[in-house]
Amino acid sequence: MEHVVVVGAGQAGAALVAKLRDLGYTGRITLIGDEASAPYQRPPLSKAYLLGKLDRERLLLRPEAFWTDRRVDLRVSTRVTAIRPAERVVEIGDERLGYDALVLATGARPLALPAAIGGDLRNVFTLRTLADVDRFEPEFRPGRRLLVVGGGYIGLEAAAVAAASGLHVTVLERAERILQRVASPQTAGHFRALHARHGVEILEGAALDRLEGDDAGTVRRARLADGRVLDVDLVVVGIGVAPATDLAAAAGLAIDNGIAVDALGRTSAPDVWACGDCASFPHDGRRIRLESVPNAIDHADTVAANLLGAEKPYVPKPWFWSDQFETKLQIAGLGTGYDRVVARPGGKEGAVSFWYYAGDRLLAVDAVDDARAFMAARRMIEAGHSPDPAAVADPAVDLKTLLP
Ligand code: FAD
Repeated sequence: MEHVVVVGAGQAGAALVAKLRDLGYTGRITLIGDEASAPYQRPPLSKAYLLGKLDRERLLLRPEAFWTDRRVDLRVSTRVTAIRPAERVVEIGDERLGYDALVLATGARPLALPAAIGGDLRNVFTLRTLADVDRFEPEFRPGRRLLVVGGGYIGLEAAAVAAASGLHVTVLERAERILQRVASPQTAGHFRALHARHGVEILEGAALDRLEGDDAGTVRRARLADGRVLDVDLVVVGIGVAPATDLAAAAGLAIDNGIAVDALGRTSAPDVWACGDCASFPHDGRRIRLESVPNAIDHADTVAANLLGAEKPYVPKPWFWSDQFETKLQIAGLGTGYDRVVARPGGKEGAVSFWYYAGDRLLAVDAVDDARAFMAARRMIEAGHSPDPAAVADPAVDLKTLLP
């Protein structure tokens, strides 16, 4: 294998090429990304960076020299326009670049509001890239009225930063409650109360009918389906993402909620692999796709090893985090399919964890300001160990005694 081409210079693409070198691959590597920046971390975009507490430099995943030292041909501001697996070529406009192995790490793109309901008005933003934040930041001023459409983690994080920066914030959630898709009512309740304490207005079961602008095309009002009208100066849309499958789909690769890969990370085309947010993979008898940094890194590491012949199936160890105001949420496992939630008060003020069970099986834990519960839960879930729910609910029982 003389040349590995990676499309997408995000979290997964960057991890993959670093791992290839760590594992001793000495051939040529080309890492192609259509953003202007060298690979950087996205999580701070809705947290410390948006709050102005993290320099741009510190967003970078690696210093510039890292890529040259490891002989990675990093091409930024470069968009791959087509892949031709039968010819082992990628196209960058008129340029054709040959490969021996191709890795698609194209990530996901935020869903936008349709233009027909005002999604194309000025001051309506999505939050995925540094460029998004650069567009958004000048409008992010104290006293302005921000509407966040979508009460998922990114929307709530943006709401928290905005409220802390002195904006008036309303969050609109169409479902009956915030975090509906990703967390239990208990966790949602905790974050609803946190936001309320900081003056964020959360409207649940409230659908947007349309955004309206002024003569200059700048957003001014939001009309809700129930007839309410909100005055707004800017809007952040956090209604989810779609995996970036266009290149793969156009080349006829199998798509199933993302670019479908097997346990090793191989797509349906020979010598084409995929990892990170763009890829769906088999897990526990079903096919899943995860949108998180730990998954991007671990999936990329596995694919790198498999490119070199390891034949190692990918076994995700899902975890995630979210920072809102002074609160840190850490999540271990995947809660999908839970039938009850056990609450466990933590050792210090405000700390609590929510344990998701399906029958007697522990699936996931949301730990709020409770790093100990998170660490213990991770160990249990990774070991497939389910502690007695009654013991978990009793704060007098030390979690250490419940470890496998
Ligand atoms: P990406 O990082 O999206 O990288 C894909 C790259 O490929 C992009 O740069 C894209 O522009 C490029 N690309 C796509 N198509 C082409 C093409 N044709 N040619 C060239 N380049 C192309 N995860 C957590 O675990 N914890 C968090 O707290 C958290 N917070 C987040 C906050 C925000 C605001 C956002 C946006 C994400 C957050 N995430 C968080 C999710 C996490 O950032 C993603 O899961 C992770 O970045 C996925 O990595 P990836 O490499 O698969 O995709």
